Amino acid sequence: MRLILLGPPGAGKGTQATVLSETLKIPHISTGDIFRANIKGGTPLGLLAKSYIDSGKLVPDDVTIDIVANRLSDEDCASGFIMDGFPRTIPQAQMFDEMLGKLDRKVEAVINIIADDSIIIKRLSGRRMCSCGKTYHIANNPPKVEGKCDVCNSSLYIRDDDKEETIKERLKIYHEQTSPLVDYYQKKGLILNFDGTKPIEVTTREILDSLNNK
Ligand code: AMP
Repeated sequence: MRLILLGPPGAGKGTQATVLSETLKIPHISTGDIFRANIKGGTPLGLLAKSYIDSGKLVPDDVTIDIVANRLSDEDCASGFIMDGFPRTIPQAQMFDEMLGKLDRKVEAVINIIADDSIIIKRLSGRRMCSCGKTYHIANNPPKVEGKCDVCNSSLYIRDDDKEETIKERLKIYHEQTSPLVDYYQKKGLILNFDGTKPIEVTTREILDSLNNK
């Protein structure tokens, strides 16, 4: 299946993408994770992306499209993919459609996770990350041992862009540049809406049920 996860930062896209990727056996592609891995590795892409990410801005479309095109050419994407955090602008969506069209493929469903700004701010400021990819929340989904990952026991950290001022900037950008994608995919009949405030497992079940009924 070729799926896109849409929704504001902190709506639970990454969490759902991890579970859906395991269940549906398709790769989880997070442009944010690719940028963060490049920042960590000190690559030229990482250096360029860092200034945008740290201030809550979007990395330019041409740079982002290139990394997606590159990732899509990997063999594991032949069975499909779940895009998390991409596309984030109308030009990215248009270029993505073109890219898939050339391969005689198209997006099959867009999972739109809805959550209010006030909930997002609370969620992101309590979010804790592990370098293995697992994410936690100090109130809603705490690790068994404070500050340590349940899976690999590494120390958890707070993302630089999860500071309150940066969260507000990311939300502003989401409303200005990313939310028009709901309409874009609605017109193509691809949008499936979900309430991002429900417990994680409930939303996962609802998503899987509606994909089965498609
Ligand atoms: P995320 O982990 O999806 O919240 O992404 C973290 C940051 O990476 C975003 O705030 C942007 O700065 C950058 N980023 C991720 N995906 C994209 C994208 N599709 N287009 C532009 N910038 C992106």
